[in-house]
Amino acid sequence: MISLQSDELLETTVGQHMIEADKVAHVQVGNNLEHALLVLTKSGYTAIPVLDASFRLHGLIGTNMIMDKIFGLERIEFEKLEDIHVEEVMLTDIPRLNISEPILKGFGMVINHAFICCENDEGVFEGIFTRRVVLKQFNKYIRTLNK
Ligand code: AMP
Repeated sequence: MISLQSDELLETTVGQHMIEADKVAHVQVGNNLEHALLVLTKSGYTAIPVLDASFRLHGLIGTNMIMDKIFGLERIEFEKLEDIHVEEVMLTDIPRLNISEPILKGFGMVINHAFICCENDEGVFEGIFTRRVVLKQFNKYIRTLNK
C-alpha cells in the first residue's frame, strides 16, 4: 500500500479542489419540477443542489426523484410537473463539507456519493467536491510517484 501521508496534496483543503458555485448548475427553492427537469436535462447531470436566494443549501434534486413523484398507476403524469415544488421531493439529508476541511475527508465521502456540496463557515454554498476532481488529483499524484 502506498503511503500518501507526506504528500503536499494531503495538506490542501476541499475548497482548493471544488468546482466553484458559479459554475455549478442548481435550482432554487420555489422552482417547480418542470424547471428542475429542464435544468437537469440541459446540464446532463443526474442530481444538482437546491439553494435559496441567499445561496444556502437546502438539498439535492435528481431526475429519479422527479420521475418517481410523477409515476401514476398507468402512466407518467407529466402535467403534475408544473404544480410541484422542488422542496416537496428533494433529498434533505445530504452529506456536506466545509471548504476548510482536509481533502482526505472529501476522498472518503466521494466513495459513496458522486459529489459533495461545500459550504463556508456561514453556511453559504461555495461549490461541489466531485469524484472527477479526486480521480484527477489521484492520477496526477501517482504519476509524480512514478517519475
Ligand atoms: P463528476 O465527478 O464530474 O462525474 O461529477 C459527479 C456529479 O457531480 C455529477 O453527476 C453531477 O451530479 C455533479 N456535478 C458535477 N459537475 C457539476 C456542475 N458543474 N453543476 C452541477 N452538478 C455537477
